Amino acid sequence: MADKFAWITEEMNALEGQGLRTTIRTIGSACGPWMVVDGKRVLNFCTNNYLGLANHPRLKQAAQEAVEQWGVGPAAVRSIAGTLELHRQLEQRLAAFKGVEDALYVQSGFCANQAAIPPMVGKGDVIFTDRLNHASIIDGCRLSSAKILVYEHCDLADCERVITENIGQYRRALLITDGVFSMDGDMAPLDQLFELCERHGIITMVDDAHGEGVLGHGGRGIVDHFQLNGKFDLEIGTLSKAFGVMGGVIAGKKVVIDWIRQKARPFLFSSAVTAADTAACLAAVDLLEESTALVQKLWDNTRYFKEGMRQAGFDIGASVTPITPVMLGEATVAQEFSRRLFAAEPGIFAMPIGFPTVPQGKARIRVMISAAHTQDDLETGLKTFTSIGRELGVIG
Ligand SMILES: *Cc1c(COP(=O)(O)O)cnc(C)c1O
Repeated sequence: MADKFAWITEEMNALEGQGLRTTIRTIGSACGPWMVVDGKRVLNFCTNNYLGLANHPRLKQAAQEAVEQWGVGPAAVRSIAGTLELHRQLEQRLAAFKGVEDALYVQSGFCANQAAIPPMVGKGDVIFTDRLNHASIIDGCRLSSAKILVYEHCDLADCERVITENIGQYRRALLITDGVFSMDGDMAPLDQLFELCERHGIITMVDDAHGEGVLGHGGRGIVDHFQLNGKFDLEIGTLSKAFGVMGGVIAGKKVVIDWIRQKARPFLFSSAVTAADTAACLAAVDLLEESTALVQKLWDNTRYFKEGMRQAGFDIGASVTPITPVMLGEATVAQEFSRRLFAAEPGIFAMPIGFPTVPQGKARIRVMISAAHTQDDLETGLKTFTSIGRELGVIG
């Protein structure tokens, strides 16, 4: 009998041949600046744990207490019997933190985009979307059945052209952009996009996954950075990056959040986030409201590391955030660089990123800086990057 899955073997071999087959590392410790990865203790420059909250004692304690009080599972979707007092508390705290009217806490950032987009636009409507928007935005757009029109990355003139040439043919329009783009660490021109949308009556939506806990006053995000608080119709966030836990948030105007609560399928048909996760998120909001010290430390560390990399002669791209892409050109160079970092003593965990996640010839290692890194950690990182950079002829 013919092998039903010969096509998979063929496709997998093709991925292997192009160096695109992903090998998934296994983590053997809590997330922090040092982690056990595939059995080796290494310095971690790989996770989105911007503020070091993923293993923070206050968050862990909150989660443990919540398990004692609430148990482990919600056993229902939120619209039927699963909305806990904790869920509502977190939503109100997040709304206040971001300076918006209301918020809805969902299972993940990915889920938040699936939940938020389809209720806002459908057949006969149009979505204007940045070429480099996150996969969860792309999928959310597809689920909506609206027409999807892509404008060039952060290109205001192209965005305006696409809008004026097309908007007349549709009933409603929605513009969606990532706040911070995760591969380059650059920022959307949010103020200008907002102004453009205001002029054309377009619904505004920003996904601030890499900006929350990082940008703005005390980590209040990209909308706060641009002082547009409360103006965006929809702000998507994640509690799994800087907040160190799990879950997504849809924040914005009350009328919009009320509507999404009625219509969003991941909210209506999938169970709620656990009490433990929710309580840990509440503790994260407490920490951020109490002090800006962690956010400050994140930026101090970022400046120190980036300056060191520049002085060593590396091209670290156009990032304006703690995301630090070390540009290496060919995918094979980035892969070899990452292998040598991991093999060094002490080893360094930083993954190569190549086509199709980034364009051909723009392969890189993406370094993620955290407030949890010590000065020593950053120096170790700089020293190891520099010596491998010289070995491979990337820097002089
Ligand atoms: C990481 C990310 C998400 C997904 O968030 P999760 O909570 O991990 O599902 C969504 N949007 C953007 C822009 C992201 O960077």
